[in-house]
Amino acid sequence: MIIICTLLTACTNNQILPVESGVAKTLADYRKANISNLEYDLSFDIPEFKNEEIPGKNTISFDLLSANQDLQIDFRENANKIHNVICNGKSSNYRFESEHLIIPKKELSVGRNTIKIEFTTGNTSLNRNDEFLYTLFVPDRARTAFPCFDQPNLKAEFQLNLSVPSHWKAMGNGKLNTMKEEGKRTFYSFAKTKPLPTYLFSFVAGKFKTVTREHNGKKHTMYHRETDLEKLERNSDEIFSLLFQSLDWLEDYTDVPYPFAKYDIVVIPSFQYGGMEHTGATLYNASKLFLDKNASKNSILYRANLIAHETAHMWFGDLVTMKWFDQVWLKEVFANFLADKITNPSFPEMNHDLKFQMAHFPSSFSIDRTSGANPVNQVLPNLKDAGTVYGAIIYHKSPIVMNMLENITGEEALKSGLQTYMKNYEYGNASWEDLIAILDATTEFDLKEWSKVWVDKAGRPTIECEIGSENDKINYLYLSQKDINENKGNWTQDLNLVLGYKDSFKSVNLTLDEAELEVIIAESRSLDIPDYIIPNGKGDAYGFFRLDEKSKQFLLKNLDGVKDDLHRGIALINLYENLREGFVSGTEFITALENQIAKEQNSLILERMLSYLKSAYWLDLNADERKQIGAQLEESLWFRLNTEKDMSKKSSLYSAFASIAQSPEKLDQLYKVWKEEIAIGGFSLSETKATALACNLAIKMPEKAEELIKTQTERIKNPDRKKKMNFLAPALSADQDVRMAFFESLKNEENRQIERWALDGLRYLNHPLREKEALTYLPQALELLKEIQITGDIFFPYNWLSASYSGHQSKEAGDITRRFLNERPDYPENLKLKILQTSDLVRRK
Ligand SMILES: [Zn+2]
Repeated sequence: MIIICTLLTACTNNQILPVESGVAKTLADYRKANISNLEYDLSFDIPEFKNEEIPGKNTISFDLLSANQDLQIDFRENANKIHNVICNGKSSNYRFESEHLIIPKKELSVGRNTIKIEFTTGNTSLNRNDEFLYTLFVPDRARTAFPCFDQPNLKAEFQLNLSVPSHWKAMGNGKLNTMKEEGKRTFYSFAKTKPLPTYLFSFVAGKFKTVTREHNGKKHTMYHRETDLEKLERNSDEIFSLLFQSLDWLEDYTDVPYPFAKYDIVVIPSFQYGGMEHTGATLYNASKLFLDKNASKNSILYRANLIAHETAHMWFGDLVTMKWFDQVWLKEVFANFLADKITNPSFPEMNHDLKFQMAHFPSSFSIDRTSGANPVNQVLPNLKDAGTVYGAIIYHKSPIVMNMLENITGEEALKSGLQTYMKNYEYGNASWEDLIAILDATTEFDLKEWSKVWVDKAGRPTIECEIGSENDKINYLYLSQKDINENKGNWTQDLNLVLGYKDSFKSVNLTLDEAELEVIIAESRSLDIPDYIIPNGKGDAYGFFRLDEKSKQFLLKNLDGVKDDLHRGIALINLYENLREGFVSGTEFITALENQIAKEQNSLILERMLSYLKSAYWLDLNADERKQIGAQLEESLWFRLNTEKDMSKKSSLYSAFASIAQSPEKLDQLYKVWKEEIAIGGFSLSETKATALACNLAIKMPEKAEELIKTQTERIKNPDRKKKMNFLAPALSADQDVRMAFFESLKNEENRQIERWALDGLRYLNHPLREKEALTYLPQALELLKEIQITGDIFFPYNWLSASYSGHQSKEAGDITRRFLNERPDYPENLKLKILQTSDLVRRK
C-alpha cells in the first residue's frame, strides 16, 4: 500500500504511468486530470443462445489535455477478443498488457480524439441465462464486457445500439429512439444518456413481459418474467405506487426534478442483490418485489424500503456520484437514510424509531462486534478490490451515523445542505468531505472531529453503566466506554438512560464525551434503584451495552415487563449482544425467548425474536441442549402458530417453527402440511414456501429426501424456479457422496454463476445437523475465497463465507480458521477481514 501511495504523488506527466491489472488509483487520477467530454457509442449484437459470442463495437470520443503518455483503456479480457482498433482515423498500433488496451501516445492528439474498437464482448458480468441477459457492472465490471475508462469520476454520455432476436425485448438507460425489425433480428437504438459513470451503464435483453403505468404525464414500464398472473396482478399496483411516491418525495426533498430521461424497472428472477440503481432501467430482485399473499410485515416493509432506496439513488449516486469506490458508502447511506424518510409515512401504525433500531443496529453489530470490523470510510488503492468495501457497515452503520449527524445539525439544515450539495455537483462527483464542508458552516459543533471517530474508525465502544446508592436511593451514575482491546473509548454521543421499574420508568439524558463519566445525582432528584437500566433508551446511541447482573436477570425473566415498545426492542437487542459477547448463555437466552414469544404482540419485535431464536437455537445450543429444550420450545411455537390470527405474524411463526422442528411427531406434521393433507390453522403454502419446506424436510428426514425433492420439482410450475430446484437437489440428497460431489462442483466457476443458488446449496451442505461432515468443506471453502472474489459479484465473498460458517459452532471450525490465517501471513487484508467477520462465533470457542 505504501508503494502505491508513493507512486500517487510521484506520478506526473513526465513519468511513465505503470501498467497494472485492475484500475489503480494512480491511473484513474491521471485520466481524470487529462480526459474530458467523454462519449461512448456502443453496439452489441446479441444472439439467442447464451454460449454464442456477442460481437461489440465501441467508439470512444474525448478531449485530451496532454498527449505525453500512452493511453490505457481498461479491458479485463484476453487480447484476442480485440479485433480492430482505429485511432483518429488510422489503424492503431496498439498493444495489450495487464487488462489494458494501450494506445501509443504518438497516435493521440491534444484536443478531440476518437478511438473505434471492434471486439468480442466479455461474458463475466452479462449474467447470460437461457432466455435473457442483464448487465451488472458495479463496481468495476464494465471493463469485463467492453473497453472503457472504468472509474466513477469519468462520467460519459452513452449511446447504445442493440440487435436482439425478434421475440426478445431490449432495454437500456436511455429512451428508445428507434426500433426496427429485420427478419429474425430487431434493432434498438437508444437516445444518448446524460453523463453517467460506467458502473451505472446497463442493458437488459430477453423474453420479458411488460406492465405500464402513467404518472405526472410520464410513462413507466415494468419488465418482468413472472408466470403467476395472480401474483403479478396482486403486486403491480403496489409496486408502481411505491415507485411514484418515492419519485415525488425525492423531487420535493432535493428540489431537483427527476434528473434522467425515463424511469423504468426490470424485475429479474434470482437477482444477486435486492436492486441495482441503473438510471432509466433499475433492476430489482423478483422475490423482493412480487410478494406472497401472506407476506410478513417485514417483507412488505422491505419492499417499500427497497424501492425508495433505489429511487433515492437516482439523485444520490446517479446524479451526484462518489469520486472513487472507497466512498461508495456515501451513496448507500443517503439511499438508506432517505428511504426511511420516504417509507415511514406509509406505515403510520408503525413505531419508526423501533423500525430503525431493528433495521440497522443488529446488522451493524454483526460486523462491529468482531475483530474484522471495518470503518465506514475505507482505503482502496485499486478498483479491482472495490467489491470488498461493501457490507453491513456501509449499509447499516452509516445510516446510524447519518442519524446522529441529523441530530447534530437539525433536519432543516441537513436538507438544505443536501440541496446545495446536489446543485453544486449535479452530473458530477463529490466526496463526504465536500458535504461535511457545506454542513460544518451551519453548526458550532466540530463536525470534522466527530467524523474522524464515527466515520474513519472501526468498531464500537463497550459501554457500562454502574449505579451507586445510599439508603436505597441512587446517588451517582458511573459510565465508561472502552474499545475492543479494553482501551479507553472516544466515541462521543448522547445517551438516554432508562431506569426501569415494575410499572414505570424514568429517563436521564447525558452526553458521554469522555472515556469515564460520573454523574452525581442531587438528593432533591433522588431516584429509587431501578430493576433494570437501558442506557440507549432513545434508540440512537451506538455501542455494546453490557448488562449489569440485576438488569440481565430482570430482562431475561420479564422482558414483557418493559411496556414501552422501543425500550423492549432495544432491551432484546442488548440481550442478544450480551449473548454474543458471552455474558448470557444459549440456554438462558432461548428460555427467555420462549417465554416472551408467547406474549409478544409487536410484530417488529416478534420478528426479531424469531430471527434470533432461529440462529441461537442452532448456534448457541449443542445437540444435547437442543434435545432438552427443543420439545418444549416446539410446543410453545406450535401453540402460538395455531392460535395466532394475524397472517403476517403467523407466517413468521411458521418459518421459525419449521426451522427448529426436530421431533418425529412435529416433522410428521410438517410433512403432512407439505403433502397438503393438513393446513396449519388456515395457513396455505405458496409455491416458494412449499419448496423451502421440502428442502428443509429433506435434510431432517433423509429417508424421505428423494420423494420430497422429486415431487417438489414436479410441482413447481415456474421454469426459473424449477431449474433452481434441479440445481439444488444434490445438496439436499441423503447420500453423503452426492453432497460431496455437489461441493466439488462449486469449485467450477460455471456452477457458481447464479450466486443465490450456489449460496443456498452451500447453506444446505452446512446445515447444523450436518456440522461434522461440513468441517471437511470449510478449509476448501476458505481456499476458494480469493477466486470467489475475482469471479463473483460484490457481496459474494462475504456471503460465501457466511454460508460456509452458517451451521458451525465448534472449536474445530475455529481451529480450521485460525490455522488457515496463521499459515497465510500475507493474505489480502480485505479478505482476511471478511473471514474474521464471518467466523467470529467459532473463533470465540
Ligand atoms: Zn444502494
